[in-house]
Amino acid sequence: MKKSTIFISIIFAILLIIIITDFFIIKSLNKKLDRITILTTLDKKPVLFPARKLEEKTILITPEFVDLYSKYYSPFKDGRTFQELINKYIHNRWQDHYGAPRGTSSMRRIHEGIDLFAPINTPVYPLTDYGIVTEVSDNPHYMVTVGCVRTGGIQDSVKIEYGKTVRILYPEGIESIYTHLNEVNVVLGQEVDRDTQVGLIGRTGNVQRTTKAAHLHMELRDKNNKSFDPRHRLHFNQHSIKFFLDHLDWD
Ligand SMILES: [Zn+2]
Repeated sequence: MKKSTIFISIIFAILLIIIITDFFIIKSLNKKLDRITILTTLDKKPVLFPARKLEEKTILITPEFVDLYSKYYSPFKDGRTFQELINKYIHNRWQDHYGAPRGTSSMRRIHEGIDLFAPINTPVYPLTDYGIVTEVSDNPHYMVTVGCVRTGGIQDSVKIEYGKTVRILYPEGIESIYTHLNEVNVVLGQEVDRDTQVGLIGRTGNVQRTTKAAHLHMELRDKNNKSFDPRHRLHFNQHSIKFFLDHLDWD
């Protein structure tokens, strides 16, 4: 065989591999995109569009989108990264993190948020540049239903006294819940941005009956209302669409 024929064959084979790989990457990407709510912007405000069938090679989530709407900031608006936040405001790395055991031996549950200790009446803010208040309570004894495991491994739910609470929905479908607040400063349905003071840190709810100091119990929940550990999810790489997609929640 002539040298030039071999060379052309190799080039052709490489091209074929690229095309096939590309095809499967796009296929899997679209499979994911097909199941999510697409967000776009009109007049610089996010607008939610329902998930729909996308044409191949259509990628609506651009790096600009990720850059604009998937950046999370400190709830104290102090410019700290999430790791710095944990280093500064978490008191006990066993008790204050997500997943720490709570409840009793006959009613086991986990701590579904993180506890950030700061002086009473420290103002708190939304985590992204845009959000909508989806739940708010000014009742210092406000109860929230959370999952638990009863004796014998039976899955159940239990009401926990969260106290004054604010819940905010972000464009990505993620919600943050701030509890034990001393004061709430927003109303249901209110549109908020990173400069909106949503409340003040306090000790309302079940904290009142403990010796625990004032803190922000901050919970993050996905589209299925399932809580998750903020340590694994709050560092979105603004230049990586793949990373962003990998961290969205699929049923
Ligand atoms: Zn807590």
